[in-house]
Amino acid sequence: EVLDVPDPLFPAITTGSDAEALRFSDRALSYAQLGAAAGALAGELPSDRVAVWATSTLPTSVAVVAALLAGVPAVPVNPKIGERELAHIVADSKPSLVLAEPGVELPAGLAGLPRLDVTLEGDGPVPATEPDPESPALIVYTSGTTGPPKGVVLPRRAIASTLDALEDAWGWSASDVLVHALPLFHVHGLILGILGPLRRGGSVRHLGRFSTEGVARELADGATMLFGVPTMYHRIAETVAADSDLSTALRGARLLVSGSAALPVHDHQRITAATGQQVVERYGMTETLMNTSVRADGERKPGTVGVPLAGVDLRLVDEAGAAVTKLETVGEIQVRGSNLFTEYLNRPDATAAALDGGWFRTGDMATRDADGYVKIVGRKATDLIKSGGYKIGAGEIENALLEHPGVAEAAVTGEPDDDLGERIVAWVVPDGERPTPEELADHVAKLLAPHKRPRVVRYLEALPRNDMGKILKRALG
Ligand code: ATP
Ligand code: MG
Repeated sequence: EVLDVPDPLFPAITTGSDAEALRFSDRALSYAQLGAAAGALAGELPSDRVAVWATSTLPTSVAVVAALLAGVPAVPVNPKIGERELAHIVADSKPSLVLAEPGVELPAGLAGLPRLDVTLEGDGPVPATEPDPESPALIVYTSGTTGPPKGVVLPRRAIASTLDALEDAWGWSASDVLVHALPLFHVHGLILGILGPLRRGGSVRHLGRFSTEGVARELADGATMLFGVPTMYHRIAETVAADSDLSTALRGARLLVSGSAALPVHDHQRITAATGQQVVERYGMTETLMNTSVRADGERKPGTVGVPLAGVDLRLVDEAGAAVTKLETVGEIQVRGSNLFTEYLNRPDATAAALDGGWFRTGDMATRDADGYVKIVGRKATDLIKSGGYKIGAGEIENALLEHPGVAEAAVTGEPDDDLGERIVAWVVPDGERPTPEELADHVAKLLAPHKRPRVVRYLEALPRNDMGKILKRALG
């Protein structure tokens, strides 16, 4: 059972103790210090929406915690954001001011807003009353993988619900120390990576920038968990066999978690071979927070995102809207539960279109096995290729290509074809000498099936990716 009324959201901050809460490189705050700094800031906030200039720093974390304690909706803003996207977010969310670390320069797009500097020395009380669980806590913009980012209104209830479901799935406790290297303006880095440990009473060590050395150092020095995106695990997979510090450190970790995009099976296998660890994959979205995960105490099946979390109902639906009950059959994932968002900001049309009764249409396609494990095939909009009468998921072809020694990165798309409807196109970043198109097509056909062979292979120096390392398929072709 998942708590519906988060009261308080962060018991350890309310209590306040000398235990370390957050560490960013050489600067750390205990729970008591975090409560004092955030409590002081909470007292200065206006009652309406605030923007947070979300650098990967302690002040960003303090600002978000202060807003949550005060019941003021916060909009984390990517500090590397482009002018046009920033203008959209400011016009869309209309923040009353911007919270930023002292001394940092803000772009022209924020110059019209009052600024409040976030210091770590404040000494104020933690507000005594908790805001309404349904009140908007955070407005997080989606990653913009498939189109312009949408503002997702997240109530406190959804945040508490998802974090408590992860406590259950991962055995997440106050003794966990998280190694963190993700940005703080998306759900993964902010809600899971900062608010998660704070809700549990555990601690976070943020590396600033991801490096395999940093991960190895923190895990060797008592950290227990790592949250990463697949590009980080790819870096680990590439180096771990030759790096005994890294393999020893990873071997000793309690839990390695991957999310935000599909973790290639080949990377998963290489990490397991070098460390004995099986990376736990979980699946979520800005709109739904976390939906499924491989359980820490359950069977780990590489290539799957595990089972629905506590409090999450999940179903697969076919194109006619009927539930798919047959095993290993593709349908769109729909979810329902206390983890869901309230609405897209200023987009009643998009909100209505995303809901089917109380079910949220994720746009992600998947199958299920007899144990209820969900395997994501790809996104409905970009990853499902209709070729020669077959519906083919891009993901399994990408996984197959990545198993070829001459392939460093791969993405698969469909493009119009007179005979086939769509033909399969492989975008490949070679690893060393470039494999020929025939060689790659034969490799896929041999591993999977002849109709899954790429008809066209295009070679690139790098795949277009966003700040979470997600492949931007709309930028291909
Ligand atoms: P936008 O909605 O703006 O196009 P986005 O969907 O990438 O961007 P997010 O909400 O950050 O924005 O990402 C959610 C999506 O990420 C999911 O819908 C899914 O496609 C993908 N995803 C997350 N975790 C996984 C995973 N473990 N495996 C495969 N895909 C995943
Ligand atoms: Mg999305």
